[in-house]
Amino acid sequence: MFNNNARSRRHLQRSQPPQRSVRTQGRTQGRAANVQGWRSNSGMHPLTQIDENSRLLRYEQQVKQAFARIEPALRQLSAMQNETDFAERAQQVAKNALGFELPEVLLADSWVKPLDIGQLYAWCVFETFSQMSDDFFATKPLADANDGEFQHFLEQCGFHTLDVSPCADGRLAHVIRYVLRLPYKAVRRKSYAGAMFDVDDSLQKWMETEMLRYREGRPNQADSPTRYLKIAVYHHSSSQPDTEGCAAHGSDTQRAAEAALERLQDFRQAVENTFCCGASIDLLLIGIDTDNDVIRLHLPNADGEIDTAVHIDGAELYQATAATSGEDALGLVRQYIEDKSKTRGASLPAEGMLRLAARLLCGNISQIDYVRQYHNGCYQDIGHQECFIGMGIGFEEVQLRNLTYFAYLQTVEEGAKDVDVGIKIFTGLNVNRGLPVPVVIRNDYHGQVPGARARAEARCHQLGAALHKRHGDITERGLLHTLLMVRDCNADGRAEIIGSSLKLNRQEAH
Ligand SMILES: [Zn+2]
Repeated sequence: MFNNNARSRRHLQRSQPPQRSVRTQGRTQGRAANVQGWRSNSGMHPLTQIDENSRLLRYEQQVKQAFARIEPALRQLSAMQNETDFAERAQQVAKNALGFELPEVLLADSWVKPLDIGQLYAWCVFETFSQMSDDFFATKPLADANDGEFQHFLEQCGFHTLDVSPCADGRLAHVIRYVLRLPYKAVRRKSYAGAMFDVDDSLQKWMETEMLRYREGRPNQADSPTRYLKIAVYHHSSSQPDTEGCAAHGSDTQRAAEAALERLQDFRQAVENTFCCGASIDLLLIGIDTDNDVIRLHLPNADGEIDTAVHIDGAELYQATAATSGEDALGLVRQYIEDKSKTRGASLPAEGMLRLAARLLCGNISQIDYVRQYHNGCYQDIGHQECFIGMGIGFEEVQLRNLTYFAYLQTVEEGAKDVDVGIKIFTGLNVNRGLPVPVVIRNDYHGQVPGARARAEARCHQLGAALHKRHGDITERGLLHTLLMVRDCNADGRAEIIGSSLKLNRQEAH
């Protein structure tokens, strides 16, 4: 599942640049300083942030490998289940391979009845995820020291909020922190199948945002000349366009782009119609090649209009600016964007949009090299390889590619399409091999709101019950398992487990 061959590890060691300050890593100013040492980028683009690439790789490997160890460990247990002292030996195997012990009840009586590998598998996935989640909130492995700097930058570009709706496909789950290199804390992310985000939900968020500006001057004063920027992210696969594109749009790239653009326009129309008086938002459409994380930027013209047929290609920009000195590269990126925008014969985007576009494309340059350095320029897992479905509201800690299929929803009925796409994907990945679909149901809540936690817990239970009912066939065959979690997002603490479908006490197990 994860490409970690010796060759790429050697490459990693070789490419460590000399005398690079950790403090400057990820900063715009730091980028300019780093650029002076561009010759150390050994075959990579002068703007690529090598330090950050190796830091992001370490995190990706650590998490992906933890999930990848589950199946081999369970195969080992399955092979030894008739041996004497099985339970004890199984715990030893689990501790060595996975770093945790298994519930005793799932190991008991293995000499008279076969091990319930399905329950063990779901339990291991849930345990691995909750350890990863705890670690994420406790140690902040993907924190960016520049969250504050980014908000300042955004406002200088004429925006106060960045709201991104990617497709729910797990191959886009790393879009914020990896593909675009943005601080995840400073960006709102909500994923939907086919990037078909909910206009009403976005309108609600827009109103909330504007209200906070009026009432509290957060993130900036209401009279500051900034706008809400909504981005939709669709995707395609350059190597297998007909089969590995967006499932929600029948792998049709043009349809995926047009549908996302239409949704963006609907949202803008909704804001303008609901709040006249000049209220509006800005829009941006991004496409991702999920083979290699190269982005396409569909920039708006001066009137804010986007054309799906016109885009700036991250790989072309990479090529056009790679053979320069570091000092010139930033200016060249900017020039390239302007030249490309002019060739379409339309007016240039607003200055702020151009600045933001340059930052996004520069971030993508690092990611293009990341995939080249560590994944030989194309991921091995071109198709779906998610480890679990994440359902509900939350999942800030999931910032990795192909780890989670998202289904953001309040009720199963409302998000039925997203849920069904997810179950279909996992039927191919797991059910057809006899393994269950692990679903983490999560509801984040605002701790300062009276009763919010109780409501979040109740919603988890409702979602769980509705999911098992909707997919009763696989539930009855023991091929659908759920873990329920809630998290106080105001306290910025860990997510707590409040229940699961696993039968972990002796009475239930019999
Ligand atoms: Zn999709």
